[in-house]
Amino acid sequence: MELQNLKDASDTVNFAQAVKKGLGKHQGLYFPTDIQPMRNIDELLKMPLVERSQHIIRHLVGDEMAPDLLDLMISTAFNFEAPLVSVSDNIYSLELFHGPTLAFKDFGGRFMAQCLAKISEGKPVTILTATSGDTGAAVAHAFHGIDNINVVILFPKGKISPLQEKLFTTLGGNIHTVAINSDFDACQQLVKSAFDDPDVRDGLHLNSANSINISRLLAQVCYYFEAVSQLPDDKRAQSVFAVPSGNFGNLTAGIIAKTLGLPIKRFIAATNSNDTVPRYLSSGEWNPKATIPTISNAMDVSQPNNWPRIEALVEKGYFEKSLLKGEAVDEESTQVAMKQLQSLGYISEPHAAIAYRALTRQLEDSEIGIFLGTAHPAKFRETVENVLGQPIHLPQPLVDVAGKASLASEIGDDYQSLKEYLFATLT
Ligand SMILES: *Cc1c(COP(=O)(O)O)cnc(C)c1O
Repeated sequence: MELQNLKDASDTVNFAQAVKKGLGKHQGLYFPTDIQPMRNIDELLKMPLVERSQHIIRHLVGDEMAPDLLDLMISTAFNFEAPLVSVSDNIYSLELFHGPTLAFKDFGGRFMAQCLAKISEGKPVTILTATSGDTGAAVAHAFHGIDNINVVILFPKGKISPLQEKLFTTLGGNIHTVAINSDFDACQQLVKSAFDDPDVRDGLHLNSANSINISRLLAQVCYYFEAVSQLPDDKRAQSVFAVPSGNFGNLTAGIIAKTLGLPIKRFIAATNSNDTVPRYLSSGEWNPKATIPTISNAMDVSQPNNWPRIEALVEKGYFEKSLLKGEAVDEESTQVAMKQLQSLGYISEPHAAIAYRALTRQLEDSEIGIFLGTAHPAKFRETVENVLGQPIHLPQPLVDVAGKASLASEIGDDYQSLKEYLFATLT
């Protein structure tokens, strides 16, 4: 697999290098130079999740890594299911929250951990990542206890639900967590600054593990196939995916799945009030505003870092931009959507509810809507209980962490503080 830096076409790397480096020169994202469609889609759709995903990953990565090895990485990473649940006549939820941290980020995080552990071959690595919610937990669990890999997770203080925070701040060991006194965009900026600083980047063998790492995207392609495989044959070509979006890694993966030949009719980019992309899709103007805190806080992102990859898919002719519509859902409508789902007998949380709302606004009669259930409702317990007025059953992984103390440190939002913290903690 060859990948190109989207900010400097002369910077090309293979899959292993892209996984290791995360970002290229000038903070450019790596993107496949070429994406070849898969020929045997019907056959693939008959296979179970793990076997099918092994085919997809081998196809994308190519002969650079041994097929047996890739197969083992996938079967280790994907040890949970992604059921497609019928919510109404023509709308389904793809439940991506049955992994160890109850969010879709387990797919990407667990595969990335497999890739990095293999590719770094026992040399020390520091994973530095910012999280607005679920990445942190997924990455922390995926790497916890892996030799020679230290993980540092920055998160905006007080802007993540308490239980969600506990999922990654209570692990200890090689997992270091830092509360930043600011918002998610500031955390993301700190990570970028660290990657730009050779002392830190080279001295600590930095690697990023947020949604910019290409291995995460490849893993996420697989569950779009899983969704379509669970639809009746005659409905597949009519499928419309509504993707609750923050940094737009999830949507990028969906568009790659379509590029590989998966029958998907079109996509809806669903956001909360941080609506940079829906505004851009309707006006053509890229005009990010200050980030607004919402109840769907994992999507409180006003400068989505995967967006250049979607532009690249369009520019290279893989994807027709008219097949992507935006939909911004405000706080009130998010709550209305959660209640509508409740009346249909389906308990959901704000992120998925936003995508559901986008479908009910845009879906045409002949179409089949699939919204991505990105997190278990119990991860947003306080909000869900407040809005729905009923108690939420806590699944076991949350019961386990609820009583544990947070081990997180706390620093300001300036780069110097982060640098000091990193050298004090890791050397
Ligand atoms: C991360 C996250 C999103 C946004 O996904 P992106 O790939 O960043 O667009 C949506 N919902 C939940 C629950 C998340 O954790």
